[in-house]
Amino acid sequence: MENQIDKCPKCGCTDIGRGRQAGHAIVAPYEKFFGLGSVLIHRICTNCGYVLESYVEKPSRFKE
Ligand SMILES: [Zn+2]
Repeated sequence: MENQIDKCPKCGCTDIGRGRQAGHAIVAPYEKFFGLGSVLIHRICTNCGYVLESYVEKPSRFKE
């Protein structure tokens, strides 16, 4: 049941790529000091570079 945006709102390009942000740019849970973080995934327009959306790979790690 995915409702993904497949068209760039900036340039109208429909060739959307996926980027994976890991390493030091990993997103860690705010409250948990030693909690495991998650890799951030970006969906990027391959024409103009606009980031359509970003989401973490493991959202359950951010539950309170
Ligand atoms: Zn674009």
